[in-house]
This record gives sequence, structure tokens and C-alpha cells, in this order.
Amino acid sequence: MRSHDILKNYFGFDTFREHQLDVIETVAGGKDAFVLMPTGSGKSLCFQIPAMLRGGVGVVVSPLIALMHDQVAGLRQNGVKADFINSALSAKEIQAVAAKLKSGETDLLYVAPERLVTERFRDFLSGIPIALFAIDEAHCVSQWGHDFRPEYLKIQDVTRQFPEVPKIALTATADEVTQKDILEKLDLASAAHFISSFDRPNIRYRVNLKDRGKQQVLQTIQSLHPQHTGIVYCRSRKRVDDLAAFLTQNGVNAVGYHAGLPTEDRTARQKRFSTEPDIVVVATIAFGLGIDRPDVRFVIHFDVPSSMEAYYQETGRAGRDGEPADALMFYSLADAIAVRQILFQSDGDESFKYIQQRKLDALLGYCETVECRRQVLLRYFGEFLEKPCGNCGTCLDTVQSWDGTVAAQKALSAVYRTGQRFGAQYLTDVLRGNATERILRFGHDRIKTFGVGGDLSVGQWRSVFRQLITGGFLTVDINQRAGFRLTEKSRPVLKGEESIHFRTDAPSTKGKQRFTVDKGQVSDTLDAASQDLYEHLRALRSNIAQTASLPAYIIFHDKSLRDMADKRPRNLSDFLFIHGVGAQKAETYGQRFLDAIHEWEEREASKL
Ligand code: ADP
Ligand code: ZN
Repeated sequence: MRSHDILKNYFGFDTFREHQLDVIETVAGGKDAFVLMPTGSGKSLCFQIPAMLRGGVGVVVSPLIALMHDQVAGLRQNGVKADFINSALSAKEIQAVAAKLKSGETDLLYVAPERLVTERFRDFLSGIPIALFAIDEAHCVSQWGHDFRPEYLKIQDVTRQFPEVPKIALTATADEVTQKDILEKLDLASAAHFISSFDRPNIRYRVNLKDRGKQQVLQTIQSLHPQHTGIVYCRSRKRVDDLAAFLTQNGVNAVGYHAGLPTEDRTARQKRFSTEPDIVVVATIAFGLGIDRPDVRFVIHFDVPSSMEAYYQETGRAGRDGEPADALMFYSLADAIAVRQILFQSDGDESFKYIQQRKLDALLGYCETVECRRQVLLRYFGEFLEKPCGNCGTCLDTVQSWDGTVAAQKALSAVYRTGQRFGAQYLTDVLRGNATERILRFGHDRIKTFGVGGDLSVGQWRSVFRQLITGGFLTVDINQRAGFRLTEKSRPVLKGEESIHFRTDAPSTKGKQRFTVDKGQVSDTLDAASQDLYEHLRALRSNIAQTASLPAYIIFHDKSLRDMADKRPRNLSDFLFIHGVGAQKAETYGQRFLDAIHEWEEREASKL
């Protein structure tokens, strides 16, 4: 069978995405490949289809044991002959899989690296035909990657035993040192490279001011994403517990997740995340590895992430299915201060601090930028996006800026004249001429800057201080109880040699736009009736998923249901034209969904 037929008949897709066909042809032709593509771009098909095209079994090495079951279940739903072997199986189950492998009944076998590299498993492999080795999450082989797994280093001992079998290594990790390491440690010197853009066009990036805390998260969920799955990241366990409780009290199906919970709780909550249609997980960064759910519609950062890399990775968990998704960060003066303080707390050497400093500058610069957010984000990863993207906060909500040179001079001078040891609140009182008891005690009502800033509100001064911090014009000294200090950069501003532009903070508004869906092959917006049918089909999918104990998206993706609601197929051959429907799924579920559509149409007709 040709690649296109497999794509259509098994996976139910009409066209390949960028690079997929080239990778498939390379590997199916017996050559090695190195694939660096972002999450959600469709890397799996790049080894699944060649494994089906070639004789023998495709051995897939993956560190994500927790996901193997769902991955294999998903493939079987599509009629692909897949199995896995890991520690979750009993000895008897493993024997059954081994028997299938010997008789050539399996096209894809998922294994953990620990098992692959054992003597016994290698012996076993030498007795069966092998189609290819796919090394997923290949960055785990590198100490420079963020997730080093020592067992990955032994993979090449195994693949060298089978020099004629093609290898394909896949990862979504960007950095260059790691790439070089992967090629070397997995013996991929002659591999063809497939590298795609790190842009995730379906993710809409926004950074909003945090001025009403938890309420803002609640409103965002209620107005933009009711009934959707999402993740809300917080800095600490305590904040996770607080926010999860608050959201639950307000009717959101929310649950907290952090490393302080007992393992059983974490497993149970992870399970809820992968099965419930509208679950919102409030989590620390402990919630990450192994998140494979494709229909996460939003990722909210309630606190700023630790770096641009972390931000990209965490937001990247949204919208793996390619459908529109939101990445929203809330951010405040307190966050800016907290981020700056990290530098003082870290006890690395100077060069470490220098790198750290640059990373923090990039992150804060991203928060305050008046440019297209996607351009700034991609530039950080060495990619140049020619035009503003049209799908980020800056592009969508016009950002205003103002000449803040004079305000900055006043603020910096207030810092200087009060001895570089006070924070924003005190300094604002000085600037606005508010003679508090403390100010009188220090005699700061007599300095030159006292009362020169009555033209700006408390909120505006807060914004000025925040942007002076993020811009590196002020720094924070934790030994001085977070008092602000001047920096090298403040001098030219104070002397009037440099002007400064500030971003005008938009007043926070209650949930603006409804969630809209981009144009694609599948109709984006449904009319009211089709929307009703869509909900009806979602309920059916939910039932089927529960009975089968499978995540709903393994039955059908949202996009497939939307296509059904729009096209309303009448028979099985129409049904095969629905996005994401292959022969196996049409056979397993087609009739039930056709019946549901038919029933719904009858009911609608009787209303007329
Ligand atoms: P990755 O491993 O790169 O993160 P996946 O392989 O999990 O991405 O694919 C992400 C999603 O894209 C899956 O839901 C998959 O079914 C879908 N997909 C992959 N290839 C295509 C295609 N050619 N057409 C439509 N959808 C696709
Ligand atoms: Zn943009």
C-alpha cells in the first residue's frame, strides 16, 4: 500500500503535513532520519507509516511508559497492529506479545529504553525481522537537553547490532548543542535532517496585567473556555491549592496537581486530566512530562514561568491537535520583582549568573514588548518571522505606548534620593506627595522629588516601576528587603541622554472575544443548529469513551465531530470523508454516529 492510502485508510487524513511524506519516504527507503519538529506537528506518523510499509516490526523507543497504553490503544482504534512491552504487563502478557512478534503479526512495538538495552531483549530482537528503530524524545540522550536519561546512551549498542535497519530519531527540543549530541550518540552521522519551524500558529499568545488575581483566571475560563480542557500553572504548591479550591467553589471542574501529593492522588488526577472533557488542572511545573492530550484548549500562567524555554514548552502543551488554543500569562510588578530576585538567590559563578541574567531579561522583555509576541518568541529561538503574526495579544489588541522619559527620570531620582532602599509603594507616595508617617520619619517630604509626580495615578506609577525593573533600569536587592537600586542603564536616562517608551497598560476587561476557530478544511464556525448537533455528538463520544475506558479524543477528535456536525453524513461512504475517519473507525463507530445524526435530524424536523 502506498503512503497516501495508509494515511487515508487508517488515519483518515487527506493530506500530509510539512515534511511528513519526505521523512516517510526516506525511512521506508532504508535511510536514517533526524526529525526536529515542534509538539503537535505530527511526528508520530513519520515512523508509524514506514513501519507499516516495511516488512518486520518497527521498534519504537519511548521514555513515556505512562503513555504507551493510550498510544497503542489509539493506533488499534485506527486498525493498526500495535503492541507495547513495559513493566505494567505481566510475564504472561509479555509472552503473548512476543508470540505475536514472532509470527509477524505486529507492525509497531513500543518499548522503554531500559528494556530495549537488556541482553535478553536484544537476543529476542535478533530472532525477528525489524522494520526500523524509532527513537522518540531523542533529546533524552543528551546531557544538554532538559531531560537526560542515561539508558538512552546504550541505544546505539543495540542499533549497531542491526546495521541494515534504518533509524529515525525525533524530538521537539530546539537547542543546537543538544542536536549535535543526538546525532553523535545515536549514530546518525549520515541521517537526512528534517527541521521545521518552531512556530505554533494555532496558539494565541497573550500577556495580561494581573490586577484582580484569581478572579481573572475564573473569568477567562468562564468567558473564553467553558467546557474546555486547560492547564493553569502556578509558582508554588500553596498557590496551586488556593487557586484550585477557588475555581472549584465557582463551578469550574478543577483539580490541583503538584509534587507534594501522594503518588496515588497524582495518578488519579492525571487520569482525570486525560479523560474528562472539561477538566482544568491547576499545577506546578511538576505537571508536564507525559501530557499527551491533544485537545488542551488553553494554558494559563498565573505566575511568570522561569525562562523563555520553560514558557515555550509549557504553552506548547496547548493545541497539539492544531486547533485554536490560548496561551495566556498574567503578570505584575510583584512578578517582575520576584524574577529579578532569583539572580541574587542563585549562587552560581559569574558566567552562570551572566547567562541567567540574559535569560531573565529575555523573559521580562517578552512580557513588556510592544512588538508581535510571536516574532519575539521565535527570535529567541533563532527564527525570524517576517511579518507580525495577527494572532497574538499585540497584533489583536492595539498596544499603545507613551513617552515615559520624564516619568522615568522622576522615578529614578526618587530612588536615588531616598537612598536606594525602598520599594514601589513608598516611592509612589513620595512622588505623589503623600506624606505618610514613614515618609515624615525619614524626612523624605523635604527631598526635591517629593510631590513631583501628582500627574500620574498610583496604578500608572506601578506600571512605570514595573517597566523600569523589566527594562533593567532598576534592580532589586533582597538584602534590602526588596528595595530598588539604580543600575548602569539608569544613568543615561537620569542625565537626559536617553528616552524611554512605556507600554500603556490596558485596563483589564471581562472576557472579550468568544473563542473562535480558524479557517481550515473543516468548517470553522458552526451555525446554531450544527452547534447543537455537535454537542449531541460530543455526548455520544463521551458515553462511548467511558464504557471503553478510553480518553475521548482516541475515539474522535473535536475536529472530526465538528466536521460531522457540519457535513451530516448519511451513510458509511459519506462518513469516510469526515476528517480523521479511516476504515477501522468507520466500521467501529460509523453506524452509531450516523444513527445519532439521523435521530437528531428527525427531532429537528419535528420541531418545524
Ligand atoms: P507530535 O508527536 O509531533 O507532538 P503527533 O504525532 O502526536 O504530534 O500529532 C499531533 C496531532 O496531529 C495528532 O492528533 C495527529 O492525529 C494529527 N495529525 C498528524 N498528521 C496529520 C495529518 N497529516 N493530517 C491531519 N492531522 C494530522
Ligand atoms: Zn503577533
